[in-house]
Amino acid sequence: MLKTFLFSISCLFFFTVSAQDTNFARSVINVLSSKVYKGRGYVDQADAKAAKYIANQFKSIGLKPVNKSFYQKVPFSVNTFPKKMTVKYNGKLLVPGQDYIVDPASKSYKFKDNIQFIDFNSLNKDDLYNQNIYILQNVLLDTFNAKFAETAAINKKKFVSDRKKTLLIQLTNDKLTWSSSYLQSHQCIILLKSHIIDRSKPAFFEIDIDAKFQPYYESKNVIGMVPGTMEKDSFVVFTAHYDHLGMMGNKTYFPGANDNASGIAMILDLAHYFSKNPQKYSVAFIAFTGEETGLLGSDHFVRNPLFPLSNIQFLINIDLMGNGEEGAMAVNGAVFKQQFNSLDSINQLNHYLPQIKIRGKAANSDHYWFSEKGVPCFFFYLMGQYPYYHDIYDKSNAVPLKNYTGAYNLFRDFAILMIPK
Ligand SMILES: [Zn+2]
Repeated sequence: MLKTFLFSISCLFFFTVSAQDTNFARSVINVLSSKVYKGRGYVDQADAKAAKYIANQFKSIGLKPVNKSFYQKVPFSVNTFPKKMTVKYNGKLLVPGQDYIVDPASKSYKFKDNIQFIDFNSLNKDDLYNQNIYILQNVLLDTFNAKFAETAAINKKKFVSDRKKTLLIQLTNDKLTWSSSYLQSHQCIILLKSHIIDRSKPAFFEIDIDAKFQPYYESKNVIGMVPGTMEKDSFVVFTAHYDHLGMMGNKTYFPGANDNASGIAMILDLAHYFSKNPQKYSVAFIAFTGEETGLLGSDHFVRNPLFPLSNIQFLINIDLMGNGEEGAMAVNGAVFKQQFNSLDSINQLNHYLPQIKIRGKAANSDHYWFSEKGVPCFFFYLMGQYPYYHDIYDKSNAVPLKNYTGAYNLFRDFAILMIPK
């Protein structure tokens, strides 16, 4: 093992001739996080547009489809907010994403009246379900989330029910962090920045939230490969999700530059390299849909693999490549210890990243289902100051791409090392 390893390291110097710059990555992130791609969610088929962009990139790089097409259809249900969204407080039009977010599982709701203030801690569960309208204050977010999770679980079980629709407005001092939901609940929940409310005055709200639940949405994974020179049926796989949170109303989109246009840029950069430098094994690239909605694209792939999962020598899942100032995290590093040691040695020898931290198993991205099926894999995300996550500010010009090149070099060398000589 050690002998093979040293041999490979000496070869790596030979491979690393041209310095990889970040111009291409920047151009990819600019495109995918632009307004045109509407946050790569499921409003106006923005996901399909992003999938097409990636498939065209795969094609121009020279990747081959695994199964005649670069696409794999992925059906799932998803709750969306494609139309006009209005929340007015005492006559003032509030800004979605900045002043408030709507819970991703929310139902449509129209409302025009005063809202009473109720302290969340004074409520019991029956009140929460049976009464119509609350404005909640002085609520600990975790308490609230626990209650909501419970509500969502109940709604999932009784998907059709005659329970009265409710509106909840919850005040928060926390950062507004959105997500995506594959179900629709019976409530409309608005998370509102606490400082907006003047508690000395009555609160008059005009609310018009239009939610569209899509029970049979069809999205796509995008898959391409560089066939192996000797063993076509054996694979090293790079994956990254291309979806993000999409639109919250017809004016507000979540750009998802760091999450995960940056990861798509990285796998495209790697695809360029492996297309010019084919390996003994095939190298496949998968851009997953539905990650933000519950790792749905990867779940579908694992249930319907385009090549046997047992033929995957190693899988590298990539997310959040925007700032690697403090190095990288290797999820599953503690599970695949031997491979992690090889990775760490490459890094120390070449000084690619300041450090690689190690984590155990985690169901926090698309590698998870592969991991559960026994496929050796790491999930990498970069570490460094970057304040924007699942919000309207995660834009291309905010992403510094520090140590992007180091991460690229590391992933490339590690993938090559994983292929037996
Ligand atoms: Zn992500």
